Amino acid sequence: MTTLSQNKLRFAPSPTGYLHIGNARTLILNYIFAKSLQGDLILRIDDTDKERSKEKFYDSIIEDMTWLNIDILDIKRQSEKTDQYKKIRDILIDKGKLYPCFETDEELNKIRKLNLSRGLPPIYNRASLSLSSKEIEEFKSQGKKPYWRYRLNHEDVTWSDLIRGNQTIDCSTFSDPVLIRADGSFLYTLPSVIDDIDMKITHVLRGEDHVSNTATQIQLFDELNAEIPSFGHHSLMVHKDGSRMSKRTGSMSLRDIRDAGIEAITLVNYCARIGTSDAVEAYQDTSDLIKNYDLSKISRSPARYSYEEIELLNKKILQNKTFASVKTDLSKLGINDEIAEKFWNIIRSNINSISESQKWWDIINKDIRSDLELEDSNFFSIAYDSLPQEPWDDTTWLSWTSEVSKKTSRKGRELYLPLRLAITGENSGPELASFLLLLGRGKVTERLEFHIK
Ligand code: GLU
Repeated sequence: MTTLSQNKLRFAPSPTGYLHIGNARTLILNYIFAKSLQGDLILRIDDTDKERSKEKFYDSIIEDMTWLNIDILDIKRQSEKTDQYKKIRDILIDKGKLYPCFETDEELNKIRKLNLSRGLPPIYNRASLSLSSKEIEEFKSQGKKPYWRYRLNHEDVTWSDLIRGNQTIDCSTFSDPVLIRADGSFLYTLPSVIDDIDMKITHVLRGEDHVSNTATQIQLFDELNAEIPSFGHHSLMVHKDGSRMSKRTGSMSLRDIRDAGIEAITLVNYCARIGTSDAVEAYQDTSDLIKNYDLSKISRSPARYSYEEIELLNKKILQNKTFASVKTDLSKLGINDEIAEKFWNIIRSNINSISESQKWWDIINKDIRSDLELEDSNFFSIAYDSLPQEPWDDTTWLSWTSEVSKKTSRKGRELYLPLRLAITGENSGPELASFLLLLGRGKVTERLEFHIK
């Protein structure tokens, strides 16, 4: 046996639906952990289920990973490796480790019930293991096709889980798992091991719904004389009410989150830290998360998903985004003239998504007066007359509003709100001292004049 040197991890989704936030967490944990080990990540597509696997879901996985800026070493598709799986299948059959079974679901149910009534665990009794070759041929001649179970060694399997610590599973408490269906197709368990061996995977990091598969898989690694990778099983992500995430229950997909204007880096930050003993941070760069990465901080209890938390985090991320990092996105919205940088620095604390910049850009450039009906013509008249001449600077707002306050005896909200409404059409928004400068005197006078009868 050779020692594996290069650290390699894999993310192994089935293309049977759009990736949801729980899948994204597995992906991001794998990526950050791989990078923290100076290793690589491989994308393995678990598409042995021909019925449910769809090309459009494969495409969307690639799209999601590109959006998240996750670089991968390679892509492998299980559907392209059936010949290799068949070779290993035959070796395991020859060794008597895979054995043909013919029991129907009904018959299996009966066995389970019988065991339970006798106070025994409801596991498969290995009846098919003692079928003679004559009996097997007879079944086949009746048109019955066998499915194949793996003969587990009835012993304890132990491993030191990267997240859960020492684990021991007694394999005599399980039914021998079915690895091959009656139509000859492979269930996930065996191809996963063959691929992990083939791709020289050093660490398998996945959801804790796979803990019991791990016992079988460790036996398979041993049987195939391969080095056993390190395993880590993270708790699953659940909805607020504790229910499980699933592609089928319409959990929010990554593409929905992306379309809602959440930044990729927000999601990376969120998934890296949610369900750990560390606070979720608003890092602008993944490298900050990779530094000091520690899997043991992942909690054993489920991570509770909160979209509101993602939205808040996204706001924080946007507040600190430099103009350079959003220039291209702004340009796509048509925000690309010489005030674009100033504009961004002023509005970035007042948006929930980059696309919301458009609203503030329109407030500067479009006619916002039409649907506003503000009373108090006299107040606007005074404001109009007090507006300083250009050039304007950071002090203009203060000197203007002090003057208006003196002349009208208005203060606070009474003073500022009508001005804000007249100038922007909104009752909240960016700091007016700065926003005023983006508008310039011409637009401000026009907007005030509109309310003077
Ligand atoms: N396709 C499996 C899943 O999505 C992969 C599990 C594994 O990482 O081994 O659950």
